[in-house]
Amino acid sequence: MAPIFYDTHAHLDFPDFESDIAELLQRAKAANVSRIIGIGTDLESSRRAIRLAEAHEALFAVVGWHPNHASEAPDDIRDELAKLAAHPKVVAIGETGIDRYRLPAPAPGQPSDLHEMILRKQTRLFHQQLEVACAAGLNCVIHQRAAFEETLAVLTPYLDRTKGVFHCFVDGAVAARRVLSLGCLVSFTGILTFKSAVDVRASLEMASPGTFMLETDCPFLAPVPYRGKRCEPSYVLHTADAAAQVKHTDLQALSAMTCGAAHSFFPKLG
Ligand SMILES: [Zn+2]
Repeated sequence: MAPIFYDTHAHLDFPDFESDIAELLQRAKAANVSRIIGIGTDLESSRRAIRLAEAHEALFAVVGWHPNHASEAPDDIRDELAKLAAHPKVVAIGETGIDRYRLPAPAPGQPSDLHEMILRKQTRLFHQQLEVACAAGLNCVIHQRAAFEETLAVLTPYLDRTKGVFHCFVDGAVAARRVLSLGCLVSFTGILTFKSAVDVRASLEMASPGTFMLETDCPFLAPVPYRGKRCEPSYVLHTADAAAQVKHTDLQALSAMTCGAAHSFFPKLG
């Protein structure tokens, strides 16, 4: 039997997929991508991810508020988020974290410390989501960009009650070692297939079985040979091919490693 893979990070609630979600799920099924985790980026998106998970057996949901949308968030999302987290198909909290890379340019009339204000809001939302995760007994999907140290500093005090997966990991082997030494996981997108992604492959190389997972982050980051096109869950197979080469193993063994890691990190996957 062909090996099974999971797409552990997909934004299927985005409008990009509205017109052909049924066909896309058919293609995933045909490719043996048997579980797909939809990631919420705010409360509405999280609710949509849950509705999709209710409608499709292969789909699960992660609920949270993405740092890039921090400005639009209410001051306190804990109560609402905790309610969503109790859903049987919600397998983690996120994506949450800190992003210094994609901050908006301050428009005329906006405060000069706009970036600091946004970063404070991101950090507050990150704490709130970690609190909800700890209370719900769930792990977290972490998004960080250009904020590795800050992200670790916020996350570390919670790690006796929750774990994080650093999604779309691109920070190289030294950073990967730090993440793994904290008992957290790393997860790889189609970037792994890009010729230039030498550092990303180096970080996978040092990750032992059980500490890494595969994802698409679709509609973004389609692997080669679809680079630049809309990404979808079935393309995770191309990332799996690249990962198997890096790990000097076959797809069957890689399937066991990555799906096994997903089941222990997301126990509600079943
Ligand atoms: Zn994402």
